[in-house]
Amino acid sequence: MSSLACPLCQKETTVRLGQKVYHGLRIATVLCQSCGLVYHDPLVQDADRQKLGLSHRQLHTNENIDRRQERRVQRRVRQQIDFLAELIRSDWRTLEIGSGLGFLSHWLVQKGCQAVGVEPDRQQAHYARQHFGLEVVNCRFEETDFSGKFDFFAASHVIEHFPDPLSFLEKIRSLAAPRALFFLDTPNIMAPKVGPTRLFSLAHNYYFSPQTLQACLARTGWQVEKTRVFRRDSFYVLARADQPRGATPSRAHAQEVGRAIRRHRLFYYLHLLFLLRKIPLWQRLWMYHYRDYRGPLPGVGDLSLAL
Ligand SMILES: [Zn+2]
Repeated sequence: MSSLACPLCQKETTVRLGQKVYHGLRIATVLCQSCGLVYHDPLVQDADRQKLGLSHRQLHTNENIDRRQERRVQRRVRQQIDFLAELIRSDWRTLEIGSGLGFLSHWLVQKGCQAVGVEPDRQQAHYARQHFGLEVVNCRFEETDFSGKFDFFAASHVIEHFPDPLSFLEKIRSLAAPRALFFLDTPNIMAPKVGPTRLFSLAHNYYFSPQTLQACLARTGWQVEKTRVFRRDSFYVLARADQPRGATPSRAHAQEVGRAIRRHRLFYYLHLLFLLRKIPLWQRLWMYHYRDYRGPLPGVGDLSLAL
């Protein structure tokens, strides 16, 4: 484990949001009061997780790959396809980081793309190869060494796991063809789906708002073109390869993040969200209702700040 200043704004102005012990490992979560980034401090490293004997998949679920898990992932990918359908071109070379069971990359192949996946979990990589004949590299993304450039990247529920989100985004940028597109899906700290006791977990290191992720992207050479924010759960970002620019969310946004977490802790049980989130009709009509934003989001200030 290691301790760090805010990786986004480099300030040491954090306030502790909570502390828990998982399998003997102490996890403390902090909010940066300057920019609104939420993260574990000290960070949870892979070595810490390995000591607990947990595989990548077990960090989220102890289930084997069964029909229930397949259906859950399929539902998620169907929503993503709805967002991406108009954008994909048939001659693209695509890279999915954390390709999992391979549903999204399989759809990209059906659209005519040359799709490559990276998946650290051996069983999931095997599933994607066996079911869809996908090209999957079975290792961590940091260990990969690709030649040539890609036109499209997807990372669904991936960036929050990495020890350093900026170096993750920089590595993807280094593999990007000019004007390449990058699709991200990550839990939204402004509107979490899971309850307060599961909000901060061993699996994740970072908890983004659309604004903090947009700032991380801008700093690493990605210009956000479109953001889709659901009432609950995660948010989508579509970014295009660009020049790196300084960007930090405002202090006011950091306060907003703090308020959102306090509200969630208070109202999750009061509003019976733990029951409502299980009801499919409620999910369709309310939880997954979304708003699309074009271009930069409000709350990301000072785009001229020097890197
Ligand atoms: Zn910060």
